[in-house]
Amino acid sequence: MAVRIIIGLALTVAAFAFAGRRLWWLYRVARTGQPAPERVAAVRGHPGRDASVEATEVIGQRKLLQWTVPGIAHALTFWGFIVLLLTILEAYGDLFSPTFAIPVIGHWPVTGFIEDLFAVGVLAGIITFAVIRLVNNPKREGRDSRFSGSHTGAAWLVLLGIFGVIATLLLYRGAQINTGHFPYAHGAFASQIVGHWLAPLGTGVNSVLETVFILAQLAVILGFLVFITYSKHLHIFMAFPNTYYANLEPKGHIQNMPVVTREVRSMLGLAASETAPVEPGRFGAKDVNDLSWNLLMSAYACTECGRCTSECPANLTGKKLSPRKIMMDTRDRLEQVGKNINANGSFKDDGKTLLNDFITVEELRACTTASKVPRSWLA
Ligand code: SF4
Repeated sequence: MAVRIIIGLALTVAAFAFAGRRLWWLYRVARTGQPAPERVAAVRGHPGRDASVEATEVIGQRKLLQWTVPGIAHALTFWGFIVLLLTILEAYGDLFSPTFAIPVIGHWPVTGFIEDLFAVGVLAGIITFAVIRLVNNPKREGRDSRFSGSHTGAAWLVLLGIFGVIATLLLYRGAQINTGHFPYAHGAFASQIVGHWLAPLGTGVNSVLETVFILAQLAVILGFLVFITYSKHLHIFMAFPNTYYANLEPKGHIQNMPVVTREVRSMLGLAASETAPVEPGRFGAKDVNDLSWNLLMSAYACTECGRCTSECPANLTGKKLSPRKIMMDTRDRLEQVGKNINANGSFKDDGKTLLNDFITVEELRACTTASKVPRSWLA
């Protein structure tokens, strides 16, 4: 038992230290962006919007479910991980007491059934994702694959990591059935099947397997937590604030520039205005620190799914523009800016910019301002 506690807690402290360090770094980088008072005002101006938007867009997976097969697979994986928070709680409890059960619901057969049902659902989800990735292999399909240009290696690693979470979960639960430590007498059908497979190994071996796979379960989950903060799968966390501050204007709605100075009014041939400021405003964006913090957050919320690019009319007609690449370029430039901040304490001009060094003018000029360009980019 002491081995379980020491290793389990050491893994937890190490994982939270690495993940926390990275999240702090990301926060510092996001602070290099411009303020976004209109987004904050929009949220404040719609009381109750936050809960309903999070419920339908994130928890309800509304948009993803518009794409039937990948949408259902994503929803199964997402909902599965919410339900599996219960099993993570059980794994931590098992570090301290082999017969741990969640208070009140921890012996209900329906709890065990739901946990196993969603564990199997997550497995079905990741198998579907693997098949979709194999069918749309960018090496074979080239530009026609919606995964072309994305980090496919990281995506496979995540699928492997999720498989590891479910495999270790079912293995330690199966071993627990054979050691008499499992909290559910009925209902946990998948764990019972695995327990049946492991039963011939005897109680002694199952006891060792129980400890090994509880620790393996925590190691995989904690490793996954750290990996998420360093990869495109940060969208798992960023989806919540990104949706919270999202622009709810109709698709394709482009807002006016916030400040039109007298100089710009004259350039645009607009009538003179006494109230227009004299100081020239700063328009457009050359580098990431010209973008607002919520646009920078959107870059980290991009999961490189390629939905935007696969529906972008400019991209479909063979032009260079890929909305996904713009999000990835923004993120890549931010990483560079963050390293610069780390080295210098604050951002020092490194002679590079998002525009030209990452995104070409040709790409931007290909934009037709169609409504399927990521809404956040238009915000
Ligand atoms: S920006 Fe494009 S690639 Fe990124 S998550 Fe949104 S639709 Fe997917």
